[in-house]
Amino acid sequence: MAQDDVFKKLVAHCKEYGYVFPSSEIYDGLSAVYDYGQYGVELKNNIKKYWWDSMVLLNENIVGLDSAIFMHPTIWKASGHVDAFNDPLIDNRDSKKRYRADVLIEEHLAKFEDKISKEVEKAREKFGTTFDEKKFRETNPRVLANQAKMDELNARFAKAMNATDLEELRQIIIDNEIVCPISGTRNWTEVRQFNLMFSTEMGSTAEGANKIFLRPETAQGIFVNFLNVQKTGRMKVPFGIAQIGKAFRNEIVARQFIFRMREFEQMEMQFFVQPGSELEWFRHWKEIRMKWHKALGFGDDNYRFHDHTKLAHYANAATDIEFRFPFGFKEVEGIHSRTDFDLKQHQQYSGKKMQYFDPEKGESYVPYVIETSIGVDRMFLQVISAAYTEEELKKEDGTTDTRVVLRLPSVLAPVKLAVMPLVKKDGLPEIAENIVKELRFEFNCQYDDKDSIGRRYRRQDAIGTPYCITIDHQTIDDNTVTIRYRDSMDQERVRISELRDIISEKVKIPGLLKKL
Ligand code: ATP
Repeated sequence: MAQDDVFKKLVAHCKEYGYVFPSSEIYDGLSAVYDYGQYGVELKNNIKKYWWDSMVLLNENIVGLDSAIFMHPTIWKASGHVDAFNDPLIDNRDSKKRYRADVLIEEHLAKFEDKISKEVEKAREKFGTTFDEKKFRETNPRVLANQAKMDELNARFAKAMNATDLEELRQIIIDNEIVCPISGTRNWTEVRQFNLMFSTEMGSTAEGANKIFLRPETAQGIFVNFLNVQKTGRMKVPFGIAQIGKAFRNEIVARQFIFRMREFEQMEMQFFVQPGSELEWFRHWKEIRMKWHKALGFGDDNYRFHDHTKLAHYANAATDIEFRFPFGFKEVEGIHSRTDFDLKQHQQYSGKKMQYFDPEKGESYVPYVIETSIGVDRMFLQVISAAYTEEELKKEDGTTDTRVVLRLPSVLAPVKLAVMPLVKKDGLPEIAENIVKELRFEFNCQYDDKDSIGRRYRRQDAIGTPYCITIDHQTIDDNTVTIRYRDSMDQERVRISELRDIISEKVKIPGLLKKL
């Protein structure tokens, strides 16, 4: 099935099974804004808990924070967002569609990479086990030609972005014959800068309203509280502050479902270190964060780092963790070495010292910062797109049937177990209800007695419930039930008294944290 079709099915599945709804749907929706349904909110909360615990529980020197969305407007002047939080936009005159110039070029660059990957895969099939990928990449003329074109374009692109040279960005688009995907033409306008911050007003007009911004990232709430936390928590450098919260960006092109939204949520951690040690910590956090992703078991090949050639104005090193979405490898998380830029800027704009007194060195300095920044919604999309599977099943009569199953890691699954009486009589519903009553303090349980047992299993597969428990007449005699495993569909007879232990081991977050 084409990846586009998979993605469409995934979006439809999210809506049909109460994961994600378009916002304000009865009013025809609001562009790039989404609501999370009954299962979506549980999955989202589980993702957040996994991240939060991996930061705050596993690291003695990382503490949490929940700062306000509204902040003093000067913060955004100091951080550079008022002047520089822009995307270069370009319009196609024929389709009247608007694009990010940098994204058009990045997508063009990705085509070279695709061509190279295809050559590699072709050769791998041809040569089988004797295939030496490294040597092939270094010597194959077609791979080398594409790599050279890609490197050249990349260098030109990075130079234009670093210099904010909008004319050159347009020229790159023209020279590379990049066409509008809708109209297929190269009838492009000039490239213009567009600031991504939303603004609103605080206070009534009579009192003199103040223009304030909806935060485009949560990080600045951490920087301006750096000394509050350091002093009250008696934190010693190196230490980190973690925060989860909403962020808002007036994205020019918001597509691909919850990949790029105008209101979204971030999980950010700023780690304050001694000047000079930042690149070492940068490498450390790169490794730790990659491990966090891979521990979910979606396959190591589906992740890669993308080191930045164009560094943001505040960074001296930056990388993205990319995941293979149905629409290609894309950023899920950014890891940035932000130097002392932010604290120094706030020191200058607020007139307050943002320094740390290092008792070991006997001196004060403005710490350097390593940031790890991941979007909750993008992580959600990663998890759900990795989990969504359609399986062909052979039925007893020889025909086939399709099973749609969300192979969610059990720790993240919204419902951990469904408890089902085989029939709605003979005391079976009461036994099922009692099991739910007992286990619901620990796990999200669901009671289900509607439809045939087969249909109930399918319904639970579709929402990703890892365990189904069926109560039948034998249960009355010997207190055993059938446990059915989502992924293998295997069934086993176990005692009711064993259920808690069997399930606990797999569905609780500490099991996952121990892998880190
Ligand atoms: P992009 O290049 O995709 O616009 P970015 O580099 O601007 O992203 P950062 O500012 O580094 O992103 O934000 C950190 C993380 O926040 C991203 O890795 C992503 O997971 C998430 N994020 C950023 N913008 C959005 C958005 N519009 N919708 C959903 N998540 C987002």
